[in-house]
Amino acid sequence: MTEFEAHSIEALQPGARRPRRWRRTAALRDLIRETSLSPDDFVYPFFVVTGEGVRRPIPSMPGIDQLSTDALPAEARELAALGIKAVLLFGIPSAKDPLGHESHSEDGVVQEAIRTLKDASPQLVLMTDVCLCEYTDHGHCGLLDDEGYVLNDETLEILGRIAVSHAEAGADIVAPSGMLDGMVGAIRAALDAERFQRTAILSYAVKYASAFYGPFRDAAQGAPAFGDRKSHQMDPGNAREALREAALDVEQGADALLVKPALGYLDVVGSVHERFPELPLAAYNVSGEYAMVKAAAANGWLDERQAVLEVLTGIRRAGADLIVTYHAKEAAAWLQRSA
Ligand SMILES: [Zn+2]
Repeated sequence: MTEFEAHSIEALQPGARRPRRWRRTAALRDLIRETSLSPDDFVYPFFVVTGEGVRRPIPSMPGIDQLSTDALPAEARELAALGIKAVLLFGIPSAKDPLGHESHSEDGVVQEAIRTLKDASPQLVLMTDVCLCEYTDHGHCGLLDDEGYVLNDETLEILGRIAVSHAEAGADIVAPSGMLDGMVGAIRAALDAERFQRTAILSYAVKYASAFYGPFRDAAQGAPAFGDRKSHQMDPGNAREALREAALDVEQGADALLVKPALGYLDVVGSVHERFPELPLAAYNVSGEYAMVKAAAANGWLDERQAVLEVLTGIRRAGADLIVTYHAKEAAAWLQRSA
């Protein structure tokens, strides 16, 4: 008898533990699955541009287009048919300036998109990105000093104005994404002062300075004209700092937290979920994560359906209640077909 055989026989004694009993059939596996996916948990992002009849494909994000507002009612009907309940709106203004004026103008592109969607589809949950980077000609997330440093407290007042303009147009949830100190408190105060107590804040509490935002910057035309965002977004090496960021946003009145990106930061999703179980947690499955899967699938290197559902399941398993994802429509359709 070889050493290997002796070892196997010992492991198969009567009474041996056999976890494989639960994996024998699909029905058994379904019965004990710990994490499930539902379109209820998906948030679908829109990139809204000015003009009419615009549907401009984004080359680095196959299947995702920039859209003008007139395309939104049909999109909302498609999402409803798929069971997707929420969208996140990003605006690409017609004109940019150093102060990002269109970000909070009543007839800005996002404000118009919010009104169009609320009219067409009152039950759809409207989340809006609150930041300046798509609106400033320098592409940074706030006002700059002479050295190109993003001014914190001076920018907070504008973030408040952006949030109020979105709430006025009908946004349900505003989502500040700039990682500025005190942004949640400033926005809560601005909303409450204008009697928008019902508008919720989903804070990008933990957002890393990531290479995986590359395709998004094509999509939102918001790449910084110079420098980077490392003076406000977090260093990828830091996890304890994520808990500190999240704690500050909870203190300031955030109604939900978000971790971005998702895939390289599932440990952070897990630890924020554990430390702040009282608040809903979202994770942003970002453009670069989407592009990687799409590129591999286009080359025949991955089974796209399986890979996407596995990625989304992994993000939920790590502790996210909601997933902002460009895969939302396709994933929802796959889930419908397999139900
Ligand atoms: Zn920004």
